[in-house]
Amino acid sequence: MPDRAEMKRQDIETGILVAGGGLAGLTAALALGSQGHDVVLAAPPAPTTDGRTTALLGDSVNLLESLGVWDRIEPDAHALRIMRLIDATGRLLRAPQADFRAQEIGLDAFGYNVANAGLLQAIREALSGIENVHIIEEPVTGLTEEGGNAAVTLLGGAKVHAALVVAADGRNSIVRQSAGIGVRNWSYPQVAVVCNLRHTLPHNDISTEFHTPTGPFTLVPLGDRRSSLVCVEDASGAERLMELDRETLNLELERRMQSILGKVEVDGKLQKFALSGMMAEKFAVGRTVLVGETSHVFPPIGAQGYNLSLRDVATLTGLTSGIRGKEQLSERVPVIVRQYDARRRGDVHARTASVDLLNRSLLSPYLPVQVLRSLGIAALSSFGPLRRFAMREGAVAGSGLRGADPFGRVRQSIGRRRDAS
Ligand SMILES: Cc1cc2nc3c(=O)[nH]c(=O)nc-3n(C[C@H](O)[C@H](O)[C@H](O)COP(=O)(O)OP(=O)(O)OC[C@H]3O[C@@H](n4cnc5c(N)ncnc54)[C@H](O)[C@@H]3O)c2cc1C
Repeated sequence: MPDRAEMKRQDIETGILVAGGGLAGLTAALALGSQGHDVVLAAPPAPTTDGRTTALLGDSVNLLESLGVWDRIEPDAHALRIMRLIDATGRLLRAPQADFRAQEIGLDAFGYNVANAGLLQAIREALSGIENVHIIEEPVTGLTEEGGNAAVTLLGGAKVHAALVVAADGRNSIVRQSAGIGVRNWSYPQVAVVCNLRHTLPHNDISTEFHTPTGPFTLVPLGDRRSSLVCVEDASGAERLMELDRETLNLELERRMQSILGKVEVDGKLQKFALSGMMAEKFAVGRTVLVGETSHVFPPIGAQGYNLSLRDVATLTGLTSGIRGKEQLSERVPVIVRQYDARRRGDVHARTASVDLLNRSLLSPYLPVQVLRSLGIAALSSFGPLRRFAMREGAVAGSGLRGADPFGRVRQSIGRRRDAS
C-alpha cells in the first residue's frame, strides 16, 4: 500500500473502500480491517462538538467488544437496568406506569449509555492499530465501474479501485446516489431538543420515558447523578426551549420530569434535530453496500440508529469472513451484495415501522388510537410472557421467539449475567 503522499498522486488498488468516518463508517472499516481485508477509509474530518450520547443495546456491546472498542469505553459507560414508561399525555385515557427490568430476562442490563465523543475516539484508537486500514481525510466525489471493479474518486484527485465499496457517507450519500439507489424520505412535525443534565437525586440506573402529547421525553442514565435527555417537541415548543435562559430552562425541565431526579442543571449546550426518516430502496447493488444512515435514518426515539448500523456491519462481516485477497473478494461480491440486501431488509423495515408507530400513536388526536396505545402498554406491563418477549426483542433483534435461553450469546460475550430470581 502506498504512503499517504503517494496516494494523493496515483490510482490506488484496495480490497474495500469505506466512504464516511461517522460511527457507522469507522466501525465498518475497523471490522473489515480486523478480518484482514485491505481497506481505504475516505473520511473527511468530523466535527468535534457533538455532545450527544448513544444507548448501546444487546448485541451492540458484543460486536464492539469483539472489535476491541468496548474495553476502551466501558469505564465511562453507564448501565440501563430498568426502562420505565410514564404516560404524561394528560389525556382522559392514560396508560399505567410500566417498568421493564433487565433482571427479569436474566440480564444485568438492557444496554449501556456512552458519550458519542468517547465512542468515536475509542473506535479511532482501535483503528490506529490496524495496519491494513488506510485513512484518507478526503470526501468521495463519485463512483463508477471500471474493469470489473468499483472506481471511486476522491476530492484530492486520487482514484481508488476497489472490489467492494461500503457507503457510510451519511444521509445525503454521494456514493448511494452514484450507485443509482433511490430513497424514501419522510418527516414528522417535531424537533428533538437534546442535552445532558446533572441532577441532585440518583437515577438508580432507570431510563425513564415520559410519553407527552408532542412526543417522548426520554432520560437515559449517563453517570453518577448525570443523565442525557432527548425531549421531542413540536417546532415552536422546541424553539421556546432553545431560547430560555439557563435558570428558567432548568426549572422547566425539572417540571417536565415531575422532579423525579430532584433539581436539574443543563450541562453543556442544547442541540436540536428536526425529526425525519429515510430508507433506501435497496441496501446493496452492484459492488456497493450501504451501512448506517446512508441506508436508514430514524427519529431519535428508542435508540435505534447506531444499534441498527452495528447489525449492518455484523451482517456484512458475516458475508466477508474467510475471504482472502482482492481477487477472491471480487469474485464473491455478487453473492455478498445479493445476500446483504436480502438479510438487512426485515430488520430495517421492522425497526422503522415500530419507531414510526410509537411516535405517531402519541401524536394521534383520535381516541381509538389513544385507547389502543394505552391498552398496548397496559398489556405489556401486566402480562409476563408478552413483557418478556418485548424486552428480549428490544435488546436483541429476532430473539423474542427464540428458545429458552435467547440471551446466551449476550451473556457469554458480555459476561455480566445476573441470575433471575
Ligand atoms: C439526538 C439523537 C440521539 C441518538 N441516540 C441514539 C442512541 O441512543 N442509540 C443509537 O443506536 N442511535 C442513536 N442515534 C442515531 C445515531 O447517532 C446515528 O445513527 C449515527 O450517528 C449515524 O452514524 P452514520 O455514521 O451512519 O452517519 P453520520 O454520522 O452522518 O456520518 C456520515 C459521515 O460521512 C461523512 N461524509 C459525508 N459526505 C461524504 C463523502 N462525500 N465522502 C466521504 N465521507 C462523507 C460525514 O463527514 C460523516 O462523518 C441518535 C441520533 C440522534 C440525532
